[in-house]
Amino acid sequence: MIGPAAALPDVLRRIVGAGHVLTVEGGDDRALEAYLLDWRRRWRGRALAVVRPGSTAEVAAVVRACAAAGTALVPQGGNTGLVGGGVPDASGTQVLLSLQRLNRVRALDAANLTITAEAGCVLHHVQQAAADAGLLFPLSLAAEGSCTLGGNLATNAGGTQVLRFGNARELCLGLEVVTAEGEVWEGLSGLRKDNTGYDLRDLFVGSEGTLGVITAATMKLSPQPAATMTALAACDTLAACVELLKLARTRLASGLTGFEVMGRFALDLVARHFPQLPRPLPSAPWTVLLEHGDTEGVAAARTRFEALLGAAIEAGHVADAVVAESLAQSRSLWHLRESIPLAQSEEGLNIKHDISLPVSAIPAFVERTDALLLARFPGARLVNFGHLGDGNLHYNLQCPEGDDARRFLEQHEHEVNRIVFDALVPFGGSFSAEHGIGALKRDELAARKSPVALALMRRVKAALDPAGILNPGRVL
Ligand code: FAD
Ligand code: ZN
Repeated sequence: MIGPAAALPDVLRRIVGAGHVLTVEGGDDRALEAYLLDWRRRWRGRALAVVRPGSTAEVAAVVRACAAAGTALVPQGGNTGLVGGGVPDASGTQVLLSLQRLNRVRALDAANLTITAEAGCVLHHVQQAAADAGLLFPLSLAAEGSCTLGGNLATNAGGTQVLRFGNARELCLGLEVVTAEGEVWEGLSGLRKDNTGYDLRDLFVGSEGTLGVITAATMKLSPQPAATMTALAACDTLAACVELLKLARTRLASGLTGFEVMGRFALDLVARHFPQLPRPLPSAPWTVLLEHGDTEGVAAARTRFEALLGAAIEAGHVADAVVAESLAQSRSLWHLRESIPLAQSEEGLNIKHDISLPVSAIPAFVERTDALLLARFPGARLVNFGHLGDGNLHYNLQCPEGDDARRFLEQHEHEVNRIVFDALVPFGGSFSAEHGIGALKRDELAARKSPVALALMRRVKAALDPAGILNPGRVL
């Protein structure tokens, strides 16, 4: 290797300390694996170096050094992203910038209901810091034990509480960002109202590491609910699930904090790979997980929740239901839901779709698209689950039992995607709801987004990252 990039690892070592720069030449192959292979095991990148700065100033110095060397940077948090956006490409010329050492909670303001935390804080730790202060940080997703706040913001993550509290963007009040030129934008603010020009914060949220490196954020907190109730309900059809949602919204109003749907085959996979997990209502074609947060206390919450389920059974929307009697039971119901992605990856490579639709259109979309897919790929196994309350389905496809999954994907993934994404169009749906574009859906974005929107996005990218060094080839 010749030129400025060859000397870059040594420059980076001087910035962050030799122990925080990993390279193949340095014999770090094994440690590199965790950074270079994505969670789905679909993308394996190579890197000139993995660099782990410990402060915002070090991030800025790393970005300046890479910019001077003309070397591209790929920011990474917990490496749980599902669209191949957080691992470098195969060229071995990019630097992977891990934010994991920026893991301090900087401040919690209970009266202002805000928490300021660094980008590498694991989501669960942010939730815990809020809980320790008697407050709630509502962002919640199955990867919360390893995904980071910076990654959540960079992907505008959704999760299971969006129905009540919104996605990462709606929870974010302020950001600290290192720009592509290595300057620090100090935009940490706990203000609910701040109309002072263009909204820079919202440009960086959801930009998947292509516009700037998020180093810290100020996020909204909420009071803890006095009581939380969880139930599973068995429904015969998706249309019945939607009726249940309508009823739950009417009866619980903002007390409806979660409404997840799980198709039978999704739960069959959980039973196959995690047989130790109890599975109530095993024969239900569709299982809904409902969560109710109440400010008035346990007795009032239980009365309201049981009345809702009773009314839903009476109306014929629900065939049977179980209400968790303890925190442990509630956790085990959530555990079932959260185990679906893991069970799917145990089952083998699969084709994931993270789609959104108007809730009212979901039953017709699924009926039509299931039929199209099964006619074209007899025996294909449809794994359908998701955040029905947000109109967001994880509408995934596993190859026919016994087939070679890798070969099936190589041959058919493109066509499967086309069938699903085309089917969304008449219903006004989106081919990317909460996981982002990354590398996986970049071509889809180029093909399906309006030319005007694409041109505006390219201009934003060129303005904020003129040298094109931040996560090139991702999103656009
Ligand atoms: P990474 O995977 O490290 O990175 C993701 C993207 O963000 C990359 O493009 C990366 O370059 C960029 N990035 C990361 N950190 C920064 C930073 N500090 N500054 C700038 N760019 C950065 N998502 C949902 O929305 N809802 C769910 O319910 C959900 N469930 C999931 C369940 C499982 C089991 C798994 C594995 C993933 C799930 N996800 C879900 C995917 C989701 O995108 C991630 O879990 C999470 O938001 C990404 O955080 P991360 O720290 O792992 O980011
Ligand atoms: Zn999800």
